[in-house]
Amino acid sequence: MVLSMKAQADSVALSWRIKERGGLTTVDFFGEIDENADFSDLRRHLKGSVVFHLAEVRRINSCGVREWVNFVRDLPDVTDMTFTHCSPAIVTQLNMIYNFRGPAKVRSFYAPYVCENCNNEEDKLLEVQTVFADGEIKGVPEFDCAECHRAMEFDDLPERYLSFLSEA
Ligand SMILES: [Zn+2]
Repeated sequence: MVLSMKAQADSVALSWRIKERGGLTTVDFFGEIDENADFSDLRRHLKGSVVFHLAEVRRINSCGVREWVNFVRDLPDVTDMTFTHCSPAIVTQLNMIYNFRGPAKVRSFYAPYVCENCNNEEDKLLEVQTVFADGEIKGVPEFDCAECHRAMEFDDLPERYLSFLSEA
């Protein structure tokens, strides 16, 4: 009970910040994508090359997935789209919903790592180029624990967590 009340209190409505520089539009997203997400105003602002920075998207529910898929597939003035810093919540959707990315290329994403020595957990930013090439997973990079300096483990099955890369 206490946990679910806390989750309610922590719920953060989706917002975004648009930056334009040198012909490139970057949109930083924050919060949760749910049935209240309304992309119509953002859609009107987007044209040319766009980059979606998705590190701070915490949660996405099934209604939010529908809103998002409709959004990314209907951007008539956008010429190319890139997702960077995809949060684990975004990666989960990329793995389950084949058209979640629309026409976007994924440049980088966070992956869960855990230290089996001291239980420290961290999400590490991985570049697609470093883990995936020529149609297959090259392997996941190793990181040392910030707390105890031992090698950390990838905290999921790489072939499952990274399956979205094979669909690009
Ligand atoms: Zn450790």
